[in-house]
Amino acid sequence: MDIQKTIQDLREELNQHNHNYYVLDTPTISDFEFDQKLKELQELEALHPEFFDDNSPTQRVGGSITKNFNTVVHDYRMYSLDNSYSKEDLIDWENRIQKMLGNVPLQYTCELKYDGASISITYENGRLQRAVTRGDGFQGDDVTTNIKTIKSIPLQLKGNYPERFDIRGEIILPFEGFEKMNQELIEIGETPYSNPRNTASGSLKLQDSALVAKRPLECLLYFIVGANLNIKTQFEGLEAARKWGFKVPKEAKLMASMEEVFDFINYWDTHRHNLPYETDGVVIKVNDFHQQDELGYTAKSPRWAIAYKFKAEQVSTVLDSISYQVGRTGSITPVANLKPVQLAGTIVKRASLHNADQIEKLDIRIGDTVFVEKGGEIIPKIIGVDFTKRNQHSQPTTYITHCPECNSELIRIEGEANHYCPNFYGCPPQIIGRIQHFISRKAMDIEGLGGETVALLFHNHLVKDYSDLYELTVKQILPLERMAQKSAENLVNGVQKSKEVPFDRVLYALGIRYVGETVAKKLAKHYKTIEALQNASLMDLILVDEIGEKIAQSVMEFFDNPENVKVIARLKQFGVQLELVEKFNPNATNKLESKTFVVSGVFEKFSRDELKKAIEDNGGKVGSTISAKTDFVVAGDNMGPAKLEKAQQLKVPIISEDDFLQMIN
Ligand code: AMP
Ligand code: ZN
Repeated sequence: MDIQKTIQDLREELNQHNHNYYVLDTPTISDFEFDQKLKELQELEALHPEFFDDNSPTQRVGGSITKNFNTVVHDYRMYSLDNSYSKEDLIDWENRIQKMLGNVPLQYTCELKYDGASISITYENGRLQRAVTRGDGFQGDDVTTNIKTIKSIPLQLKGNYPERFDIRGEIILPFEGFEKMNQELIEIGETPYSNPRNTASGSLKLQDSALVAKRPLECLLYFIVGANLNIKTQFEGLEAARKWGFKVPKEAKLMASMEEVFDFINYWDTHRHNLPYETDGVVIKVNDFHQQDELGYTAKSPRWAIAYKFKAEQVSTVLDSISYQVGRTGSITPVANLKPVQLAGTIVKRASLHNADQIEKLDIRIGDTVFVEKGGEIIPKIIGVDFTKRNQHSQPTTYITHCPECNSELIRIEGEANHYCPNFYGCPPQIIGRIQHFISRKAMDIEGLGGETVALLFHNHLVKDYSDLYELTVKQILPLERMAQKSAENLVNGVQKSKEVPFDRVLYALGIRYVGETVAKKLAKHYKTIEALQNASLMDLILVDEIGEKIAQSVMEFFDNPENVKVIARLKQFGVQLELVEKFNPNATNKLESKTFVVSGVFEKFSRDELKKAIEDNGGKVGSTISAKTDFVVAGDNMGPAKLEKAQQLKVPIISEDDFLQMIN
């Protein structure tokens, strides 16, 4: 068989599955099958570097580091949009353009204004060439490597596309993915991102494209430019782009009059909250390209398009005070306490102020009248101060220098936005937060014990770290507020039962900074026991797959602390799982240790999966393509001719299933 063709077919197939999943939202194969195919392609490409293609779907996982983003001049300038805020503004705009065009009937394409970071992507002969940020409109940064990791962006186009063109769109982070990213950050004690837009635009400039690949970014396309496009209208352009494989939101509509444009605006003004991503308005574009040409551009924006901005739901109220919350990792978050006010259907009393820089930037002072807005975030935010109402005697806000809970002097690490309380072992909210994390569902999942009870136990001096939980008795906790015999028993039983929780979850429960669920699993699998992890050097840790320096450093710090070592010794003494218990398998041996097998063909005594499992159960590894690293090929009936040839060429021994059985028996 022709390897090049196999590779090409796999690439096309994977491209199509990406399209089905990320653009059409209708996957036709399981994630597992997709991963298998991707792996197959990766292995083939590794064996045949001569067929390398930087637009292969395997390149989507990222991994290359960009130190400096090159500046690139746009072939066609990227303009801004004029804004309008009322229907009168729009009627004025229509009158202006009608005057220039001579009162001809006009059609408009109405689109949503996606709130993210704009991007211009160049395609040549159907292949993605480069992607550039807007920059100042004349030139931007080349962020091609990062953009290629976004799976809704086609690397190879389909159908009948122009030879060369730029397509423009917005890189966005849908709410769901954004919330998920934040949830993960909160779980490992990091500060969550403040909004999807900044996170999306920040992602484009990350140096490590593998990090970009992990973010659930999307790209929504809205405009094509180029020479000899053979497209006559904006709407036609959108439909064509969709056919070539781009994600073009179906909300875009062709409208025959300004009346219809108003209908579109009215509809989305109320329905925009149901969209999966943020929008702050509607973009109205003259549909006909000839008319667009006639209208041309002002210094900053096209005359043929205008943005209509929805009124953000905004109110003003008085800032009563600022309080400072201390998180589980000691991170300080300032919170604005507001005079209660109605906003977007709820009563708002508090708003996030993020950090010291934010307070300084907005120059917020106690007693100020502030504007509060509800955007894509869950907690409303303060967007500015009504300076006309400022009291003459008001004083600038000075950020706290000491922890409001334990009075330790706060520290601020260079380059980080937040202040920290360094009193890890003496600061009550940090201690309580750590225990709350320890008992949480994804960690030790202790039944009968909730976050408030943890605080109660702490304040009554019954626990001072999570290992103390294991010594609690019914008699001790019964006197606590609202504690009945039954609930006290449940609590103690729940704690005892958590001794069965497997090592990887215990490791996550310890609350080591940056060690989330996935990292904990990786570390548990790699080190198998807490001692091994404890004894690992920084270098060892970094060498573990997907463990970076930041995580490794944090693990080192955790175990360098004698307090932690003591607590872990206690956990061990109480019988908490501090090593990986491999599931007992009576057939398991290590007879095949360090041997790699490739399985090909159909077998009599095993299914292929059973055979693969038997290899792994006996300590061997299963590869999917034959390479110099393969030790044996287990061949059944109908072994693929390409594999046979490869095995012979590399002199890899070919064995039957009976030979294999002899090896393990
Ligand atoms: P502004 O940044 O306010 O000047 O608005 C212009 C920007 O809106 C463009 O650079 C695009 O990034 C963005 N935008 C979002 N959605 C659209 C859309 N449907 N059509 C054109 N531009 C859009
Ligand atoms: Zn403190």
